[in-house]
Amino acid sequence: MSNESLAVIGGGVIGLAVARRAALDGLSVRVHRTSGGQERSDPGSYSGGQERSDPGNNPGLGASWVAGGMLTPHSEGWPGEEQLLALGLESLRLWHGGFLDGLPDDVVTARESLVVAVDRADAADLRTVAQWLSAQGHPVTLTTAARDIEPLLAQGIRHGLIASDELAVDNRKLVAALESHCEQLGVRWAPPVDRLDDARVGVDTTVIANGIDAPRLWPGLPVRPVKGEVLRLRWRRGCMPVPQRVVRARVHGRPVYVVPRADGVVVGATQYEHGRDTAPSVTGVRELLDDACAVMPALGEYELAECAAGLRPMTPDNMPIVRRLDERTLVATGHGRSGFLLAPWTAERIAAELIGARA
Ligand SMILES: Cc1cc2nc3c(=O)[nH]c(=O)nc-3n(C[C@H](O)[C@H](O)[C@H](O)COP(=O)(O)OP(=O)(O)OC[C@H]3O[C@@H](n4cnc5c(N)ncnc54)[C@H](O)[C@@H]3O)c2cc1C
Repeated sequence: MSNESLAVIGGGVIGLAVARRAALDGLSVRVHRTSGGQERSDPGSYSGGQERSDPGNNPGLGASWVAGGMLTPHSEGWPGEEQLLALGLESLRLWHGGFLDGLPDDVVTARESLVVAVDRADAADLRTVAQWLSAQGHPVTLTTAARDIEPLLAQGIRHGLIASDELAVDNRKLVAALESHCEQLGVRWAPPVDRLDDARVGVDTTVIANGIDAPRLWPGLPVRPVKGEVLRLRWRRGCMPVPQRVVRARVHGRPVYVVPRADGVVVGATQYEHGRDTAPSVTGVRELLDDACAVMPALGEYELAECAAGLRPMTPDNMPIVRRLDERTLVATGHGRSGFLLAPWTAERIAAELIGARA
């Protein structure tokens, strides 16, 4: 066992994936985080009619708390994002190839995606994506019988694209499961740090993995917050059953997705720049509800359990920043809308960097 030590700053999906991988490699690991475990019962969002003391503000839980949890590189792909597609596919292979080892089975909530088109323009977009994926060597199946595959779809929706190896995870269960796996492996928790030097005390290497706040520790990192609203709808007795796959759609040009959970679905997500505002806006919530119900009318009977908004750590080219900054510092941030998908790839990259430094 190595005596090498690592401090990870940030306890979101990226920091935890990096910490777990390093602990599996025998490093002594400490994670500086803002909150954990029990403190997460109030996500700081509208939640099932309860009173809230902190309207709309996500109290340090980060993007990992609100995310949809889709691992969907094909169905999220778009011409021009070839590099991101390649990374996403590599990381999806790692999800299938061992990243879930040591985690409970119920973190995975779907094992297929269906992308559907609502109008003609949306159908044309679908064909564009399918042709582009084929040209990249990743063909997907087009169908004109989408409702035969997913009976909850609205009448009239016919065109679809199937990505049969894509996954979805319950983001909150996954974060909790990574935390407990980290604990089993001896990872220690520590308070958040205001300065990089505070995290460096007593360790060989530090990984900055605190999402949108990374530039506060390393000024100049090109990461900015991009807001996204997301809803949680809970299944109720008498409602149509929860869909078994991720369903993504473009509704008159606007993207919407429905991701299964054990007790309902997650509906997401808007995407726009509004500083660090994490209040779910009426317009964002209304559009998501309208679009989700246009795609699956039966969702209108579900309970509106939670409205939340989170901040994606975006970079100018939409590519994550995972690299060495100096002899004692690495960074893993800027995962934008794909932090869950790219967590295994990120953990491997950081592990390779640490091994390379030892060699
Ligand atoms: C609405 C929405 C939907 C999304 N859906 C998906 C999806 O379906 N699939 C997907 O792959 N991705 C999705 N994402 C993106 C994904 O959530 C992010 O890319 C991912 O969570 C980034 O993880 P992270 O650990 O880098 O950052 P965060 O999850 O933001 O975690 C960073 C943590 O660091 C903490 N921190 C900050 N400063 C400090 C400090 N100084 N010391 C210690 N801790 C600190 C923060 O409080 C936070 O807990 C979505 C994002 C949003 C907003």
